[in-house]
Amino acid sequence: MARQSQLIFLGAPGSGKGTQANYLVKNFGYKHVSTGDLLRAEIGKGSSLGMRVKGIIDAGHLVDDMTVLDLLKANCDTSSGHFIFDGFPRTLNQAKLLDEQLLRGCATQAVYFKMDLEALVQRITNRRVAPKSGMIYNLLTRPPKRPGICDVSGEPLIHRKDDTEEVIRNRIDVFKATIDEMVEFYTQKGILKVINANAEENAIRENLLSALGLNGVNKDLPY
Ligand code: AMP
Repeated sequence: MARQSQLIFLGAPGSGKGTQANYLVKNFGYKHVSTGDLLRAEIGKGSSLGMRVKGIIDAGHLVDDMTVLDLLKANCDTSSGHFIFDGFPRTLNQAKLLDEQLLRGCATQAVYFKMDLEALVQRITNRRVAPKSGMIYNLLTRPPKRPGICDVSGEPLIHRKDDTEEVIRNRIDVFKATIDEMVEFYTQKGILKVINANAEENAIRENLLSALGLNGVNKDLPY
């Protein structure tokens, strides 16, 4: 049954994974784990891991698989709830590691937020984030009520260093090089749903809910 699954979100940066994950967390009790957020938190703390990965992230390249896997393992216990994996896996090897070392037979669904990659550049350069509340804004399509300030927490909004046009193009190239093998992997397993992520936010959400069998589900019911 859909509501008892772990969820894997696949999609290019800016395809709406984080925004939709926030919605499922708020309304359906999922836990959200984003490897990008975990890595940025390490950089924010100034840990040795953070210092090691900062240059890689700022350039839009991938951090090595084992570093990210270890961080993920330390921050998510699949026996304690239903997680949305956002930003992991990013390679076929990571998909296999996730299966073998974290999911280990848990009921799982994968969702691919498929999007026209050129439109992404505009979407991402206009993205602003609030690290504490986790809110994600877009200056064109979803601006905050007060410019530069998060509606929920009142904190200043951040323009991520890797959300600039040059770095985004790198990140999109990395994505293009790895998405097909992951799509093939989850298609073979028979657990992949593909969502049209070119649509606007509410339409993506409707598609997502129906793909997951959550349409019309009473959100207040505990599960
Ligand atoms: P994101 O917030 O998911 O866009 O991730 C931001 C950056 O963190 C990426 O561009 C990578 O440099 C790094 N990163 C996040 N997740 C992974 C991952 N699963 N494997 C390797 N690098 C990652």
